[in-house]
Amino acid sequence: MSSLLIIEDDELLRDGLCAQLAQAGHGVTSAPDGETAQTLLQSQRFDGVVLDLGLPKISGMEVLRWVRKRLPALPVLILTARDGIDDRVQGLNAGADDYLTKPFDMAELQARLGSLLRRSRLPAFGGSLELASNNTSRYLRVDAHLPQAWLGDEELELTQREWALLQLLVTHAGRVVSREDVLETWQTDPVEPGAMASNALEVYIHRLRRKLADSGLNIRNGRGLGYMMETAST
Ligand code: CA
Repeated sequence: MSSLLIIEDDELLRDGLCAQLAQAGHGVTSAPDGETAQTLLQSQRFDGVVLDLGLPKISGMEVLRWVRKRLPALPVLILTARDGIDDRVQGLNAGADDYLTKPFDMAELQARLGSLLRRSRLPAFGGSLELASNNTSRYLRVDAHLPQAWLGDEELELTQREWALLQLLVTHAGRVVSREDVLETWQTDPVEPGAMASNALEVYIHRLRRKLADSGLNIRNGRGLGYMMETAST
């Protein structure tokens, strides 16, 4: 059973979400605003969060940034307005793992949430992966089980999807990883429409590049084929 936190100010929607997710076998706690959510997140452990971006007082985006600072590995699915393309991009940039636009289908929410939760506890393969460039002594180390990675002694703040992407790139270092490989690894279910998926991927690549800025490692564009992790000096 997964323990979920639903942050939504619309009472009808909140109650509906709670009832459906409880029926699906999850342990569900809800919060009508960001302050209540922060209090809950400081006192309880959750496996996943559904976060409405349109909240009163503290905005959903602020809650998201707050969560990412403290709980970088906690899977977060955001709910955005139908025409909120900026919100979606901003949300993904701020560390959301996935999004749904309102109104959404409850079965789709369950599928996407299930996918995030599966990935967050997937014991894919043992140990950790290490990669180092030629011109720095700071090894990049990626845990194979947990959404964690370190650059030297410093832990990187990564979302679930960033970690999955990084793990894939490190596993295939020196070879091109295709968009399809990444999307398959993300296990988006149902698969996102192509355009949005590739835009999201660009955003994630951009974020990983920033986080690896001092590593001597480089994520190169593979001429429309995909992306390749390489040491900066090659
Ligand atoms: Ca709202």
